[in-house]
Amino acid sequence: MTVPEPPGRLTIDLSALADNYRALAKRAGPGRCAAVVKASAYGIGLDRAAPALWAAGARTFFVAHLGEGVAARGLLPEAGIYVLNGLEAGADPADYLAHRLKPAIGSLEELARWSELAARTGRRSPCALHLDTGMSRLGFSSLDALRAAMASHAQACGADLLMSHFVSSEAPGDPLNAIQIARFAEARAAFPHLPGSLANSSAIFLPERPIHDLARPGYALYGGNPTPGRENPMRPVVTLSVAVQQIRTIEPGATCGYNAQWTAKRPTRLATLLAGYADGLPRGAGATDDRPGAEVAIAGRRCPLVGRVSMDLTIADVTDLPEDTVRPGVRAEMFGATIPLDDFAARSGTIGYRLLTGLGPRYARRFLN
Ligand SMILES: *Cc1c(COP(=O)(O)O)cnc(C)c1O
Repeated sequence: MTVPEPPGRLTIDLSALADNYRALAKRAGPGRCAAVVKASAYGIGLDRAAPALWAAGARTFFVAHLGEGVAARGLLPEAGIYVLNGLEAGADPADYLAHRLKPAIGSLEELARWSELAARTGRRSPCALHLDTGMSRLGFSSLDALRAAMASHAQACGADLLMSHFVSSEAPGDPLNAIQIARFAEARAAFPHLPGSLANSSAIFLPERPIHDLARPGYALYGGNPTPGRENPMRPVVTLSVAVQQIRTIEPGATCGYNAQWTAKRPTRLATLLAGYADGLPRGAGATDDRPGAEVAIAGRRCPLVGRVSMDLTIADVTDLPEDTVRPGVRAEMFGATIPLDDFAARSGTIGYRLLTGLGPRYARRFLN
């Protein structure tokens, strides 16, 4: 028996991914451009994304976890690979060294563990130094804390990058951007021999161009809009399409879905789609009586999702679509070339990052190029 094709399909355009990398690299120039491939390359699959990005010219990669770094090393024997989470609590620093992974060190305790390894092995092992300029999440909490740590460990520490991370670079008007840019500039002046890396996807598009030596985009590579509210400069990479299973007509006053959150105001034709929140669709993607929801596209025409998304099913209102275009087996595009990822996310009450990284395991994945 052949394995049946699942009703939900992800089409992943690796040539669009490569184009996006090249466009970001051009924009980051004369700085270099890395690729952030954490969380399975934002859900599209590290095993296909990493070699495609390498072929497009990326030579430096960022992952979040040690385990992701080990997987990336297997795919990218010659790349520079940084582990953003740093020396994970409980991890053996020797495992980083064994796979030539560079932790983004963010505390005195981590730096001491890393230096101890260097002293023991006699190898100055490369790492990044992560300064917290406003996230209060990871990294040395101040330039003074970083200075103090380096004063005791500079000899053994093979740092080759100074990095920090923006709080809200997607909002160019946020005053925190200027504060973080200034804090990072001060740190670079204190460690002038270290290359710097500050910009995520959106920061590459800030008017200040805080690129320094190495940009670190993730989301924009995968087609997300780094400039919310403005036209998306990136090509879409991921298309999610889901098959229609049933079509029915309901009378005005009838409701659909759990808890009867949406009520028909006219004779309404509904199409039931074969994916739900177990596949990563937001439970609130459908319209309720109080607020609109996301739209999907069937045969190129938009129609709204209605009612609560169920575990395995979602309902679209196809009343305004030509009757012959909606049949069982026809596919609805949830997001992709017609429905921008960021639109689908915003209308579902979430962000595109969450949609991509939450794409469930039941979809068929098809790769173009
Ligand atoms: C995820 C991440 C990035 C990439 O951010 P995007 O907004 O996806 O471009 C860069 N730097 C750090 C520290 C991150 O955690």
